Amino acid sequence: MTDEKKQTSSDQATLTPKHAAGQIDRRGFFRGAAMLTVGSLSATTGLAQVASQGESPGVPAAAAGTLEAQTRRTLRWAGRDPADWVRARAGVDHNVVIVGGGQSGIAIAYGLRRKGVGGVAIIDQADAGQAGIWRTIARMHQLRTPKTLPGLEGANVTLGFRAWYETLNGPEAFDQLDRIPRLAWADYLSWFQQATDTKVRYRTRLLEIEPQGDVLRLHLESEGVQRVETARKLVLANGYAGAGGPNVPGFLRALPTNVWTHTTGEIPFAAMAGKVVAVIGAGSSAFDAAGVALESGAAEVHLFSRRAYIDYQAPPRPGAPPAAPVDRGYGNALEFNRDLPDVVRWRNFLLGDRRVASVPLDSLERAVAFKGFHIHLNTSLSDFSLAGNGKVVAKAGRTTMRFDHVIAGTGYRIDLAGQPELARIHESIALWRDRYQPGAGEDSEAGGSHPYLGAGFEFQPRADAGAAYLRNIHCFNLGAALSFGIPVGDVPSTVYHPRLVAAIARDLFVESVDVATNARYIDTPLTAPDSAPYERAVAGQARDVA
Ligand SMILES: Cc1cc2nc3c(=O)[nH]c(=O)nc-3n(C[C@H](O)[C@H](O)[C@H](O)COP(=O)(O)OP(=O)(O)OC[C@H]3O[C@@H](n4cnc5c(N)ncnc54)[C@H](O)[C@@H]3O)c2cc1C
Repeated sequence: MTDEKKQTSSDQATLTPKHAAGQIDRRGFFRGAAMLTVGSLSATTGLAQVASQGESPGVPAAAAGTLEAQTRRTLRWAGRDPADWVRARAGVDHNVVIVGGGQSGIAIAYGLRRKGVGGVAIIDQADAGQAGIWRTIARMHQLRTPKTLPGLEGANVTLGFRAWYETLNGPEAFDQLDRIPRLAWADYLSWFQQATDTKVRYRTRLLEIEPQGDVLRLHLESEGVQRVETARKLVLANGYAGAGGPNVPGFLRALPTNVWTHTTGEIPFAAMAGKVVAVIGAGSSAFDAAGVALESGAAEVHLFSRRAYIDYQAPPRPGAPPAAPVDRGYGNALEFNRDLPDVVRWRNFLLGDRRVASVPLDSLERAVAFKGFHIHLNTSLSDFSLAGNGKVVAKAGRTTMRFDHVIAGTGYRIDLAGQPELARIHESIALWRDRYQPGAGEDSEAGGSHPYLGAGFEFQPRADAGAAYLRNIHCFNLGAALSFGIPVGDVPSTVYHPRLVAAIARDLFVESVDVATNARYIDTPLTAPDSAPYERAVAGQARDVA
């Protein structure tokens, strides 16, 4: 039995480590999950970093025990994982490979397992415990999204964040949360992965996709060794940077890499004490990076915004315009956005693109609390150069400024040509600009670069591209935002998991049908079962059977 086919170990697994003195160490509690891996690929976890970022207090042993018992019970009630019904295809290694072991990858894999789809492998280039963003490049104290959104749990509410958090900390603790603490979310994801027994092959990177008929040859680098494995289906759950990478302005790329960092990178905060730092951009990640730089002792942080205002999440004002219309993000109907007409999806994208993702008030206040924090509105930096003393020199309007380090809070690009894994195939993929002609004044280069996805997140071929294999590559990353009406990968986009799972299962199901076997069944005469159980009641044949 493969790892993927193993049923959820509700009857056997120990979901918590041994506890002592009424408290268990939170790091120990989640270490098992962070190490969930297959083969010999386990690696050191990054949980040490959790501690350095302000770990939450220990988990009461009694609460941990309750959680374990509750999880076992509800997984038992949910029933064993169904048998794998997918007919294997000779010579193909995997039915499905999921690229990315973050929150999307593990939840989609679990969804496939609960649908009876076996032969699913998840790979992640990160070390065990480091997949996703929450312990690395996410720098806020709390998630930006509301605490009550549905999430990874699917039909089993006890696998949800709220059940997990309340069981460990009490319902009042949840009620008192403003939003979900970032590290609590990271711990929850580790627990979810462990509770659902979802294995990831860490330190395994997809380098390139090579089509061969409708099968995908995946060029991988696993523990430093290159290999090719084949798959019928591929899910790109590779995160915000997975459809073109971080958006790094050309003027920064021209500078040496030690004087600038994009927010997706490892920013050298420890070296910022007493230094002058520039932050380009005014979105949430820009403010979070500014906050950490200031907390790390930066003497001055200058944040540059091209706009005349900061787009933050202001509390609703009396007399404010009515809530967004139903086609623009009504919480319980998000998953229908894909079915809106192209023109509505396009305009919704334009509306979103005109705003910077609005900054949570606490992220804004975190930076503004420091005297050394300065916001430069209506200001773009230009004329960059490097001075002899290693400082970055740039013009802010007419003023010349000098910085020790520049942080680019400039977001992400959607540019399939820039995504290394797609190098061989991106030219065949239909984009919005190939399929949709915007009305006058509604052009958008950024919008036009998004892939025009099918209803199951699959890439579609450009006209005459002859690339039918593209229907086997499902794009569950930021590139899907325009087609599906929300930033895909976010917590709200978990409502789309069932659609993706159903699309993959459907394709494998239809492909699994063997017409010859089907014909044999129809041609085989029916055989009646033994009539003994009802014999005595058959009319006209009654006889003494006593
Ligand atoms: C700074 C930041 C803050 C955010 N805050 C919120 C928030 O508060 N609320 C919210 O709803 N959303 C938020 N988001 C958006 C979204 O929820 C997160 O990005 C979330 O982590 C997405 O999960 P994911 O599993 O789709 O991708 P990720 O968590 O990014 O995981 C993708 C994984 O793919 C792996 N990978 C990538 N390429 C390859 C490859 N070639 N081979 C193998 N592995 C690969 C990576 O190592 C990574 O582990 C935030 C995003 C960012 C960047």
